[in-house]
Formats: sequence, C-alpha cells, structure tokens
Amino acid sequence: MALSGLEIFKLLPKKNCKECGFPTCLAFAMKVAAGGAEIGKCPYISQEALDKLAEATAPIMKTITIGKGDAEYKLGGETVLFRHEKTFVNRNRFALLLSDSMTDAEIDEKIAHIKNVNYVRIGEEMKIEIVAIKFDSDKDKFISIINKVKDSDLKNAYMLICEKPEVMKEALELVKDEVPVVYGVNKDNFKEMVELVKGTKIPLGLKAANLEELYTLIEEVQKLGHKELILDPGATSIKEVFENAIQIRRINITGNDRTFGYPSVIFANELAKGEKYMEVALGTIFTMKYGSIIVLNDIDYARALALYPLRQNIFTDPQKPMRVEPNIYPINNADENSPVLCTVDFALTYFIVSGEVERSRVPVWMAIPDAGGYSVLTAWAAGKFTASSIAKFIKESGIENKTKSRKLIIPGKVAVLKGDLQENLPDWEIIVGTLEAMEIPKFLRELAG
Ligand code: SF4
Repeated sequence: MALSGLEIFKLLPKKNCKECGFPTCLAFAMKVAAGGAEIGKCPYISQEALDKLAEATAPIMKTITIGKGDAEYKLGGETVLFRHEKTFVNRNRFALLLSDSMTDAEIDEKIAHIKNVNYVRIGEEMKIEIVAIKFDSDKDKFISIINKVKDSDLKNAYMLICEKPEVMKEALELVKDEVPVVYGVNKDNFKEMVELVKGTKIPLGLKAANLEELYTLIEEVQKLGHKELILDPGATSIKEVFENAIQIRRINITGNDRTFGYPSVIFANELAKGEKYMEVALGTIFTMKYGSIIVLNDIDYARALALYPLRQNIFTDPQKPMRVEPNIYPINNADENSPVLCTVDFALTYFIVSGEVERSRVPVWMAIPDAGGYSVLTAWAAGKFTASSIAKFIKESGIENKTKSRKLIIPGKVAVLKGDLQENLPDWEIIVGTLEAMEIPKFLRELAG
C-alpha cells in the first residue's frame, strides 16, 4: 500500500540540508509520495527506514520467479481479484506430472507429449512449462527421472514433489541451479526443508490440511527467513479446493493480508481422478480462479486447445488492444517480385492471416498499417482502415523499394475500398482478397500462377 507524504517524512533524518534537491525534508517526502522523486536521493536515510519503505510499498502479492533462462517464469504479483478491475499480470503455468510409480514407457510417452504439444498462438508459445517430478516410494527411480528430464531436450522449469527432506536434498542437488519449486513442505518437515533452500531464491511449495494450518505454516516458514513461497490450497474435493483458492486470494487482496500473498499450485491431476476431460475442465476453472501452477496428468492438442487460448485471454490486458507493430513483414522469403497483402494490426487477425500466408508457401509482403488494433470491419467502421490511411502507409513504409511488384491485396471484407485506393495508388493494381483467412492459400497460389 502506498505511504502518505507524512508517513515518509517520519522516516527521514529531518536535517533539512537540501542535498536531495528539495528545500526541506517535508517537501522531499511529499514529492516521493507523489512518485516524483526517488527516496535514494536522500544520502542520509537509514537502511532501516529504506527497508520499512520497501516493505510498505511492496505489492500485496509477491512475485515469485521459478526456472532459469528460457524456462524462467514469474508467478503471482497480482493486485486485483477480477480481471476487469485492472489486469492480471503473471499468467498461470501448466505442469505435467511424472512419478516414480509410473512405468518407463509411461514416462517416455509423457515426455514425448510435452515435446509434441508446442505451438505459437498470437505470438505466444503454448506448451507445458514445468515438469513436476514426484517421489512416491522409489528414490532411485525418482532421481533417474530427474536425470532423464535433464538429459532430454525439453526446455522446462522443475517442480520437485517430495515430503522427505533427505530425498529432496539429493534431488535438489541435481537441479538447484534451475530454480525448481521444492514442493512438499508441511508442519512436520518445514525446518529441514527451509534449511535445504536457505540463502537461495528457490521457492518452497507449502501444503497443509486446511487454511488455518496453512496460514500458521506460512508464518513459521517466514520466521525462518524464507519468503519465496507457493501455496497449495489443500483439501481433496474440487469444491473445497476451489473455495480455498478463492479464500486465499480474497484474504490477500481484499483483506490486505500479505501472509497469503503468494502464488498457488493446484493439482488438477489429483482432483480429476484420472478423468482427462475433467482435468481439462479443472485446468480452465483454476486458470480463472486462481491457480498459478496447474498440474496435469498429461497433455495433447485437444486438451491444449481448451487450456491455452483461455489462459491467453484471461491474462491479456483488457485495456490494451492486442496488436502487432505496424510494419512490413516478409513471409515465405518475400523478395522483389512478391505481391503485397495488406491487413490490420489486430494481433488475432495478423497471426491468423500470416499463418495462412505461410501455409500457402507463396512469398508475400504483409503490409500492416496502424489500424488502432481493431479487426478489419471494426477498423474500417471506425475510420482507421481507409483508402487514404492504407495508401499513406504504402507510400511511407518503403515497400515500394522492397518489391517491384505493384500488386496490393486488400481484405475481401473491405472490397468497397478498391475504387478509392486505386485513385490514391494509381501505380498499383488493387486486388480484392478473400473474405475468410482459410481461403488465402488457394487464392495466393492461383495469383502466383
Ligand atoms: Fe532531508 Fe535528506 Fe533532503 Fe537533507 S537530503 S533535506 S535530510 S531529505
């Protein structure tokens, strides 16, 4: 929560020495409170005061980082209960479970599924981001699975699931540089588990029988100095887990209680009890409320197509249109003989159209003017995708130097622009394209002859 100017003033040394560039400490404090000056500008402020300020101005929910390099993900850090209030900031991540009670064939199959389901939608990679490896009873196999995943070419973060500190210690040695989630911290083992991650940023996954016990466990772990946490809402029924996940978020955000201010992990695989479509349904429910890591038993394209687009929608800022940068984009190695296809900068339109152009294998320049981030008809109706705006973009974008072709394809839905565009671009042949994106490959192949 933001501090008032007077609250900040109380933490200042009150020398009125002007070294911060302000005539008095009070003036400086007021400016800091308004966001117009950095507290560090006062050379005399004590570390204690700085710490207090940092704590008071910290977000209500902590952002936890897991993984490393290409597989680094941020979780939590949310500030609102509902997406329409502002925006959700750190999307949930999907984990796939492997355990030592699975056969080698099952494990290989699941790893193959993780590799297989990996695609890009509206510029975002859709894949399993975390491999959750669970210790059931066979330590050697548990360790061998970790090594197998390490040796594979998967680019994933890790979650190690084990309640035995001595086994976790051995497992953690293998992947501690990868910043895995160390899950399985409970009221009986928390001291040993905290010891394993002391002095690191490795997050601990906390589990308890109920919310009261979880709250106490968080406080105990925090007292030991570790504040990188991920919370399991506990419970075994879908109803209770759902209620607990909401309770945790409400107590944190609405109740201003930082004890519950951490991301969560939901074991959709356990709740679904082996029913794969139930697991997908749970994956969607907890994407909305409020799973940060959602553990699945398996993945395939059918399941992915239900989970990832929903996540993409939920975690897109509703106040910002999803748009691509207005520019000229070469597709399929477009060259000086390639035609130009113009559409709007609405991301969904761009990626669907560019996908179909790629599928045609015909080299094409895609011309994307600033159309306000709207779809074709909306942009046209709003006056943002007009003959004059398209012509201006074509003249100013430099496309006339990139291709000698003077064929300009416009979306079939704005065929009405053809006449005006022809007048604005007399050197170009204006071609009305298809109504639907899926017709583009055939259309382009016929155009290319
Ligand atoms: Fe006050 Fe610090 Fe500014 Fe000096 S530098 S006037 S002590 S706030």
